Amino acid sequence: MTMVQDGAVDPRQPLHFACTVCGKCCQNLRLALSVAEAIRWLERGGTVELLCDAAPALPHAPGSAEEYRAMRAVPARSGALPITVSMTLTAVFDGPCPNRMANMYCAAYEDRPNTCRIYPAEVRPDRAIDPAQKLCPSDAWGVDQPLFLDPQDRIMDETTAKAIAASRHNGVEDVAAKGRLLALLDIDTIALANEGFAIWAPDETVMLDALRQSISDMVPAGQGDLRIVSGRAETRAMIREAEARDAEPFEDAPFRYLPLYQ
Ligand code: SF4
Ligand code: SF4
Repeated sequence: MTMVQDGAVDPRQPLHFACTVCGKCCQNLRLALSVAEAIRWLERGGTVELLCDAAPALPHAPGSAEEYRAMRAVPARSGALPITVSMTLTAVFDGPCPNRMANMYCAAYEDRPNTCRIYPAEVRPDRAIDPAQKLCPSDAWGVDQPLFLDPQDRIMDETTAKAIAASRHNGVEDVAAKGRLLALLDIDTIALANEGFAIWAPDETVMLDALRQSISDMVPAGQGDLRIVSGRAETRAMIREAEARDAEPFEDAPFRYLPLYQ
């Protein structure tokens, strides 16, 4: 539910939905994966990249979007500044997903990632489902379809609800393994949250080996004195003022810098 300005509760409209198997959400994607899902994706011959961004480590209001992010981020530092690093493993493919069959069904249906089970719902509790922003055709949202979201904001589809719960749980559980990945992949540079991502994409063998090692308690976590990369001079100056370590995007870096704004 959303609160309107005078404090009254504004109930959302219920949503009806059923997948029409149009296949539009199975192409040109970055699919967020848990550590275990990333291992299985690579074992099936897929490609996985790691998107890293950081925010200052600050206390956050209970239930806020910032707290949700921080609980799923790796504690680290940049120079003298304590930071939290979000490390998002993603399956990457241009064109159709390697698992999408000619009839639009999924060849890995029983083992598809939670992200695939959740779409078109949202995993983050602060994001509402907006059918206008989704790839699903209008008939998928028809009132003759099963109730998907009730007026109390509860997901009524059992598979989707379970996948959301699992994804939120895995995000917290994976923090320790991701801390180890910092060391295992020699990650020394991340981007600033809401400004861009540093994309670490070693070849599949290196990534798979690092992920397998990351789930072992015997592997130490990374030390985490990281540089924060930005293409903006004013952002780099701000990073230095915060006594953190800044970096400019540079050629032949072991990561790609993906700015969110030009
Ligand atoms: S794994 Fe299956 S459900 Fe997920 S994007 Fe690929 S084809 Fe679609
Ligand atoms: S875009 Fe929507 S309707 Fe089409 S396959 Fe994906 S979830 Fe189903």
